[in-house]
Amino acid sequence: MMDLGISGKRALVCASSKGLGLGCAEALAAAGVDLVMNARGADALEAAAEAIRTAHGVSVTTVAADITTESGRAAALDAAGAVDILVTNAGGPPPGMWSDWERDDFIAALDANMLTPIALMKALLPGMMERGWGRVVNITSQSVKAPIAVLGLSNTARAGLTGYVAGTARQVAGHGVAINNLLPGIHATDRAVSLDTAVAQQQSLSLDDAQAQRAATIPAQRYGTRSEFGATCAFLCSQHAGYIIGQNILLDGGATNATL
Ligand code: NAP
Repeated sequence: MMDLGISGKRALVCASSKGLGLGCAEALAAAGVDLVMNARGADALEAAAEAIRTAHGVSVTTVAADITTESGRAAALDAAGAVDILVTNAGGPPPGMWSDWERDDFIAALDANMLTPIALMKALLPGMMERGWGRVVNITSQSVKAPIAVLGLSNTARAGLTGYVAGTARQVAGHGVAINNLLPGIHATDRAVSLDTAVAQQQSLSLDDAQAQRAATIPAQRYGTRSEFGATCAFLCSQHAGYIIGQNILLDGGATNATL
């Protein structure tokens, strides 16, 4: 296996008791990175942390808190201290129609999927720059590149984060800090089950049929896995990725039909 060169470094991985965040935590731990893991629900978080300690022998601190609140971020940052690696993540906004959403819905989506990662970067970038090394990976979405109409709140908030990262990544790169975004297409996680359940209900299909119907639209003919996603995240956090700056990397099995 390729040596990622980050053994002994420390990472804050937000929203990481399940799904894509957990995949990132597992892959970083496999590379020898000590972790601060976060999620709202303490039970799943403790179980995930214990499984990682056992499998990889790294130290894992847990912070059960809502990362989209100021107090949740303060608790996570307090536990994180001088981390070398930040992975931002949070739950995605609910699906709906453009005509459903009011100002408060947009403010909630912006808070969760744009202003939270920005606040975490603002808090942690100065230390990384001072130490001359840092990595930030923001989990965004395929919807940044190609809109998913029913996820208008997500399209909007994540586009804002993407614009912020594009400029900020170039301001900090000279200090050895690399910020990039990972754009998941459909992956087999709880979030995918809840989106597919909504589709199944709307179209009077079984969940299995809704999943098969969606998989058939993807060139790879399947959903992504959290371990594939985590491996890409760990590479972006590695010593090898210091020249990848401000990029948006699509992990979608070819679903976005675009040349570039
Ligand atoms: P998931 O399977 O539902 O897992 C979400 C994880 O985040 C859980 O550990 C959850 O734990 C935690 N979490 C959610 N809200 C949180 C909050 N406010 N504060 C702290 N932790 C929080 O979701 P996923 O599929 O991994 O998705 C992760 C992100 O990628 C989401 O923003 C999603 O929209 C985006 N995405 C996913 C896909 C996909 O196909 N899976 C595709 C495109 C984009 P608690 O509930 O206990 O807090």
